[in-house]
Amino acid sequence: MKKMSQDTVCVQAGWQPKNGEPRVLPICQSTTFKYSSSEEMGRLFDLEESGYFYSRLQNPTCDTVASKICELEGGVAAMLTSSGQAANYYAVFNICEAGDHVICSNSVYGGTFNLLGTTMKKQGIQCTFVDPDAPAEELEKAFQPNTKAVLAETLANPTLVVLDIEKFADLAHKHHVPLIIDNTFATPINCRPFEWGADIVTHSTTKYMDGHAVTLGGCIVDSGNFDWEANRDKFPGLTQPDESYHGIIYTQKFGKAAYITKATSQLMRDLGSMQSPINAFLLNLGLETLHLRVPRHCENAMKVAEFLQNHEKVAWVDYPGLKESKYYELAQKYLPNGTCGVISFGLKGGRQEAVTMMDHLQMIAIVTHVADARTCILHPASHTHRQMTDEQLREAGIAPDLMRLSVGIESADDIIEDLRQAIENI
Ligand SMILES: *Cc1c(COP(=O)(O)O)cnc(C)c1O
Repeated sequence: MKKMSQDTVCVQAGWQPKNGEPRVLPICQSTTFKYSSSEEMGRLFDLEESGYFYSRLQNPTCDTVASKICELEGGVAAMLTSSGQAANYYAVFNICEAGDHVICSNSVYGGTFNLLGTTMKKQGIQCTFVDPDAPAEELEKAFQPNTKAVLAETLANPTLVVLDIEKFADLAHKHHVPLIIDNTFATPINCRPFEWGADIVTHSTTKYMDGHAVTLGGCIVDSGNFDWEANRDKFPGLTQPDESYHGIIYTQKFGKAAYITKATSQLMRDLGSMQSPINAFLLNLGLETLHLRVPRHCENAMKVAEFLQNHEKVAWVDYPGLKESKYYELAQKYLPNGTCGVISFGLKGGRQEAVTMMDHLQMIAIVTHVADARTCILHPASHTHRQMTDEQLREAGIAPDLMRLSVGIESADDIIEDLRQAIENI
């Protein structure tokens, strides 16, 4: 059969039942797996044979869903994790250790910023945060001899900075390190970072992939393109014997699957964080409609952004789909079919007007979440960042009047109507 379209992959990839097996992905709710001889079980522990033995490392339901995301991204191997945080942590820690250094865009999600800037720093891994819009010559200065990876988001949460992926990929490769892209907001429906030179993709599947705000989850996908062997000395964890597995060398034994195999057999074994099978099942239901929901989120967000832009009480609107956006050109290049459902905007008057407007909303809910089916709104100055003064907020790049609106898949007319009456009732 010729290569299937993304729409068909969303619905059909992953679970392929054999004769008489369930049509729908089974939930393997089992911590353990049975073998008839101790010899067979032993071979699994030596990584001589692939197979399941304990769900802390691998579970068939999770692997099946990971294989669907792998196909959507066009990768060679993938694994699920219990959260997006775990995905980014493992993606980096799989190729770094104490004494190493990574480079990360300074506009990444707050959780990733803390992970790299605080927690991994305590583990001895240093991070330099860079301005993603800086010219290549400027970014070049961040590289050190011990740099092991570059990390950034296709479409940053919540600043909606659109990354020039090719610029970042060229820089990373020039310095012999992989580019890791968090593709959560774009999803593979709107952008496939491997096509632009990224080596590894991560996801918080909690957002659009699940899409219904029911399960936390993450995923790591490897393109199989980065040549670890050509940079043997930089990546000893992959290219030199693993004494905890009788001296196997991941790149020699597993080829293009080396990176994911190591993350599974070493990091999952030692640190845990596998997604639970029931969560993977729910994630798969979300994936089955991803190709329908993502375009609708984008279409609705575009209409809402245009409405806000033309409203006299609205001070500013930030949405990369708008021609006026600083990121319009990059969005046209990397996300030609649409960006995402998230918009930032502010009202004339500022912080207090934002609070009053939000209290007048009837359908749109105030919640700490983005990227699910229901339209929701958050005001960082009153919620996630409420301990900060206006001045501190501005320093952190968050306008005191900024509201983050995550446009859902309801009727655009109803979303706009709710915003209209709330703004007019201030
Ligand atoms: C939410 C988010 C994360 C963290 O994911 P969790 O599933 O909440 O752990 C990481 N990256 C991006 C871009 C996100 O939006």
